[in-house]
Amino acid sequence: MDFRFSDQHVMLRESVRNFAAKEIRPIAEEIDSEDEWPEGMWGKLADLGVMGITVDEEYGGAGADLLSAVIVLEELSKASPSIALSWGAHANLCCNNLNHNANAAQKKKYLPPLCSGKHIGALGLTEPNAGSDAVNIQTVAVRNGDHYVVNGTKMFITNGTIANTVILYTKTDRAMGAKGITAFILDTASRGFSVSRKLKKYGHRGSPTAELVFEDCRIPAENVLGAENRGINVLMSGLDVERAFYAGESIGIAEACLELSVKYAKERVQFGKPIGAFQLIQAKLADMYTQLEAGKMLCYKAAVLADQAARGGKGTEIHKLSAASILFNAEMASRVADQAVQIHGGYGYMLEYPVQRFLRDAKLIEIGAGTSEIRRLIIAREILGI
Ligand SMILES: Cc1cc2nc3c(=O)[nH]c(=O)nc-3n(C[C@H](O)[C@H](O)[C@H](O)COP(=O)(O)OP(=O)(O)OC[C@H]3O[C@@H](n4cnc5c(N)ncnc54)[C@H](O)[C@@H]3O)c2cc1C
Repeated sequence: MDFRFSDQHVMLRESVRNFAAKEIRPIAEEIDSEDEWPEGMWGKLADLGVMGITVDEEYGGAGADLLSAVIVLEELSKASPSIALSWGAHANLCCNNLNHNANAAQKKKYLPPLCSGKHIGALGLTEPNAGSDAVNIQTVAVRNGDHYVVNGTKMFITNGTIANTVILYTKTDRAMGAKGITAFILDTASRGFSVSRKLKKYGHRGSPTAELVFEDCRIPAENVLGAENRGINVLMSGLDVERAFYAGESIGIAEACLELSVKYAKERVQFGKPIGAFQLIQAKLADMYTQLEAGKMLCYKAAVLADQAARGGKGTEIHKLSAASILFNAEMASRVADQAVQIHGGYGYMLEYPVQRFLRDAKLIEIGAGTSEIRRLIIAREILGI
């Protein structure tokens, strides 16, 4: 067992950290207050070389492993979880999924513009009445010659207002439950597709979240991802990777909160001493550090093993490990961010200090990519063998 990152991972972290310090951190509060994606950011992320981080090089990607993607997510999150979330929906939910599940012609057509940053990606699964119960989606696709005609609504879709390419889950056989799901690659220029509204959020402001509507939207049959009525395989293949990946956002949030809190504890003077001299503040910092380190071990282990499992590795028990990683880390980041606000006192409650933003942002990871409750169910089922 070797706890050191490879030289490549260290270099990647360094370059994303420098990028985030220069290009994101100075505008992080503005992104939050304006609730707008910063103009030119996708181009800058493309120049950094991370748009198709885990995509095969022959399709324009960087061919890196999932741990690399986690490192990028973590470093972006330390500056702005909003930028991290949207980049993750593009790079992981869309591009990584296509890299694993699309056929050669689909990869050749869709991946190069996604990897170069010319196109933005998203994933549309959740609906107004189907979240945790994802196999109960009602968006329906009916075959009509060489096309499918799609009708329905998707809810809470990250990058929904700006995406060019969406991995879209539909029902092609409503009577068949999970076995009636078909995944498509949707080109958002298709007739019958529209963004019905951009949603206003409590956190992750600036990362666009949207409701999408399909009214007799025609999708070519060649855009079926996987096979008709086999969308559940595409869906399941991405979930462990998605959970292992998004745990990295919580790590970034907790790291930022700890750093800000240590700095503040050294600077803020009360009773003639820096508040870091008080043992009750020291205990909070020690607990924050300990929880973060525990979270990192789980996060990096799950990332490495989820990657191996996705490449055909066996015996990794990855469902429960990925679920445990995001379960622990999401709740850990909320606790750590909450303590960071407490350490900052009244200033922590003010919008001009970033810790309250991290607290609002942290909460989403307990909900998105499957809630904490669903993650506990997954872990319990696997350890009980039921
Ligand atoms: C900002 C944001 C971005 C998102 N981005 C995307 C995206 O890009 N693409 C996408 O497809 N989706 C996206 N989502 C949707 C997200 O995945 C869902 O919100 C999530 O899966 C939960 O579904 P729900 O909101 O419908 O909650 P519900 O499923 O209605 O859950 C409500 C509550 O009931 C609990 N619950 C449900 N079932 C059970 C059960 N069996 N046992 C115990 N408790 C249960 C839940 O844990 C939760 O506490 C996003 C959501 C948000 C908020």
